[in-house]
Amino acid sequence: MRALVARAVGEPPRVEPVELPAPAPGEVRVSVRAAGVCHSDLSMLNGTVAAPYPLALGHEAAGVVIETGADVTRVEPGEHVVLNWAPPCRRCWYCERHEPWLCERGGVPAVARGRTAAGEPLHVTLGLGALAEEVVVPETAVIPVPAELPFEAAALLGCAVLTGVGAVRRTAGVAPGESVVVIGLGGVGLSVVGAARAAGADPVLAVDVSPTKAKLALAAGATEFLLSDDSLSRAVRGRTDRRGADHAFECVGRGSTIRAAWRATRRGGTVTVVGMGAKDDVVPLSALEIFHSARTLRSSVYGSSDPDRDVPALARSVLDGSLDLAPLISDRTDLDGAAAAFDRMARGEGARTVVVP
Ligand SMILES: [Zn+2]
Ligand SMILES: [Zn+2]
Repeated sequence: MRALVARAVGEPPRVEPVELPAPAPGEVRVSVRAAGVCHSDLSMLNGTVAAPYPLALGHEAAGVVIETGADVTRVEPGEHVVLNWAPPCRRCWYCERHEPWLCERGGVPAVARGRTAAGEPLHVTLGLGALAEEVVVPETAVIPVPAELPFEAAALLGCAVLTGVGAVRRTAGVAPGESVVVIGLGGVGLSVVGAARAAGADPVLAVDVSPTKAKLALAAGATEFLLSDDSLSRAVRGRTDRRGADHAFECVGRGSTIRAAWRATRRGGTVTVVGMGAKDDVVPLSALEIFHSARTLRSSVYGSSDPDRDVPALARSVLDGSLDLAPLISDRTDLDGAAAAFDRMARGEGARTVVVP
């Protein structure tokens, strides 16, 4: 089967023939029907996050189970599933405390699985490698969803939407009437915008360096689009009775934008970091401002969500029309067009590209 494979930092990924093992006991093979191009894959491509190569990219996808190994009880061939890139063990200290997104065994950047055509060991992103025709994954990494759910919507539930909606509802707990700033308007940021509006936030100020994101932001539910520059905190204060926003969501993963989110927030407000940044990118905060501002700074890993509980709930919201994912999707392509989608993402263009292998 074919997969999108990265071979070195900074080199464009290429579609290659690869071979996956047959499903072992407890594993399933899934035919991928739609996969999103997510920023975390770009981070592994450009070296922001260290990863072993060759590396099959992709971790936001949906498809159909086509083969099950021995002892699989969760799904049967023919079932439609969303892939989960951080399947919790349900046994560790975090899982037992109902924080499965912090599972001691979850979210490993890359695991070895299968081989390239030349026989080299292949690694798969976040245990999935889903920008591919097929994946072989543990049954705990698939979540059954109704067959009526369109594959492209199902794919986005697995990363951008679970993360964005979870950050608003579960991590930050945005309440009706609160003011919200969202910095960085990719798939996750636009999902945060939509979820904040759905939670009754007002205003919802959507911020990006690219003015081309204005239309996408307003379609996703922003009350206003602001260009990201040095005047951002003043602009936010001007729209929040001079205080700053109750909540800021940083959806970029950069020290400078975390700092901007911090400055745009009111005293006692909350900054939720959703973007994944580099380990040497430092956020400067003075001891006095930490004390005086009384702000809360925290991150949202996988939307503080339990995918097994929350993905089916989000699927129901898509099917009953209360969650519209159309504003998140700006491009559609096949596997051969996926590398160009990473280029667009690196240039800050568009929202999600959905790949249909
Ligand atoms: Zn992702
Ligand atoms: Zn666990």
